[in-house]
Amino acid sequence: MRLLFLGTAAAEGYPGIFCDCDYCREARALGGKNLRFRSAMLINQDLLIDFGPDLLAASQRFNVSLSHITTGLVTHAHADHFHLGNFEMRGQPFTARLPIPTLNLFGPPDAIQAVHQAYPHLDELRMTAQAVNAFTTWETNGYQMTSYQAYHAIGGELTCLFYSISDGKHNILYATDTGPFPEATWQALSGRVFDVMILEETLGNGTYAAHLGFEGFLDHCRRFTREGLLKPGGRIIAHHLSHSGNPPHAKLEAILNPHGVEVAYDGMIVDLED
Ligand SMILES: [Zn+2]
Ligand SMILES: [Zn+2]
Ligand SMILES: [Zn+2]
Repeated sequence: MRLLFLGTAAAEGYPGIFCDCDYCREARALGGKNLRFRSAMLINQDLLIDFGPDLLAASQRFNVSLSHITTGLVTHAHADHFHLGNFEMRGQPFTARLPIPTLNLFGPPDAIQAVHQAYPHLDELRMTAQAVNAFTTWETNGYQMTSYQAYHAIGGELTCLFYSISDGKHNILYATDTGPFPEATWQALSGRVFDVMILEETLGNGTYAAHLGFEGFLDHCRRFTREGLLKPGGRIIAHHLSHSGNPPHAKLEAILNPHGVEVAYDGMIVDLED
């Protein structure tokens, strides 16, 4: 299993589009790992998590074609994860009329409904779109997925999920856009063992109920270990990073690495050997 981080920033990107704070200025000056697109991850060549506004830019920056994707997971319909216009580009006129494999898309009911409303003839886009609720396990295209309830969009306006994915050999958790996990989510995770646990650390020093900062993130890491969710030698990776509270990459590593946590960067590859 190969994981490729296509983006590792929170909603506004890092440096933020319209931001000149000290962290953003430093990130612009340093370049490289300090430049982060909106979060998305590609697994192998055929599974994509989230379809945000930077997908095209990331596919070009990291030299990957997304034409092989057969499974798509949408975490939630916030604009940094879900840009509907991406799907239209699967149509014949935009793919040189070449055949591409069917994309089976899964996500929360409200996001999937938006896809069906925007594109009543999904077959023309070579895709299907199916709603999943929290705590569903299903198999598609050689992967087994489970959805979990996130604590996010706490006004209740959206359903927000995150996912575990297994290829039968490796098991990973991709948790983004969530504050403290609901207890029902902890219960659903119980008994699972992950090779890699990817968890949002949006806020750094900041606080906001529906995301995690350093304190909440590290609390979750300790509970992962305490509950045996992380395989011995497994990896915990922080992502979905905002400049509001998180310093640029090397300084963030200096804070998190001593806790056994890696900091994701755009283009980071995690190879899990068979
Ligand atoms: Zn987000
Ligand atoms: Zn900034
Ligand atoms: Zn969000």
